[in-house]
Amino acid sequence: MSIALVSNSDCGRHDTGWGHPEHVGRLRAIPKALREEPELYSRILHVESRHATEDELAFAHDRAYIASVRDISAQGGGRLDADTVASEGSWDAATAGAGAVLDAIDMAFGDGPPRSFCAVRPPGHHALRASAMGFCLFGNVAIGAHYARRRHSAERVLIVDWDVHHGNGTQALVEDERDIHFVSMHQWPWYPGTGAAEDRGPHRNVWNVPMRALLPPDVYVGALCAAVDAATTDFVPDLVMISAGFDSLRGDPLGAFTLELEHVEALTRFLVERAERWCEGRVVSALEGGYDPDRLAAACVRHMHALE
Ligand SMILES: [Zn+2]
Repeated sequence: MSIALVSNSDCGRHDTGWGHPEHVGRLRAIPKALREEPELYSRILHVESRHATEDELAFAHDRAYIASVRDISAQGGGRLDADTVASEGSWDAATAGAGAVLDAIDMAFGDGPPRSFCAVRPPGHHALRASAMGFCLFGNVAIGAHYARRRHSAERVLIVDWDVHHGNGTQALVEDERDIHFVSMHQWPWYPGTGAAEDRGPHRNVWNVPMRALLPPDVYVGALCAAVDAATTDFVPDLVMISAGFDSLRGDPLGAFTLELEHVEALTRFLVERAERWCEGRVVSALEGGYDPDRLAAACVRHMHALE
């Protein structure tokens, strides 16, 4: 089997409350859509993820913040940021989400499939070192990048974020490490307001690609691929990670990019082909945004097809 789908039912226990766009229905739509493609379904290794430990979360987050998320969940939940809440199940959900990425990395550097898609929530790419932000509690992908360097043989990691929002949290959590290169394409101007092209990070290891809304989809695909090329000039990654936000699809309620499923496929194939050349095909992708559940699920299935 060349790919794994990594998830955990605990990811459904992060209860954001009635009417919140980041709800459990987003995740439930994915296996439903995948079962309509029984051949693909049967070729994928389905993995129930472990939970990340507090030591692993601390690769990217302050211990006091980690403890505060744990304690707020244990006390039944509470508000963490203007649009980010924790419920009783959020600790288990968030540690399972990060754990899924770590399991995927273990498989990629061990005997498992070199590529995985982690169907997780809450998302991670806005989470900061000591605070939750923008629906995100822990930086799943950033934690994974540090984990791959510390616990496996990875020296250089490339992270590609095509969520419609700037991956400000991922940038904050990896920009001090010059051997992690981070590429983020995002709508501009738009939430969270960061991610200017001139913002290259202290070591110039960040490539921000701010893009106007409602451009032809090929323009987004071309811009992101060009940025990946720029980020990998004289830099051969040992692992490619994707922050797969599907709010960059046309019609998403929280964004105004215009990607269709074929563009998700094209971007995925571009990165898989590069990863085959660079690093034995190792690609670990994790779900970020995407707020139309049916579109999100269809995109995940297409993404997994292209990862295969
Ligand atoms: Zn987003």
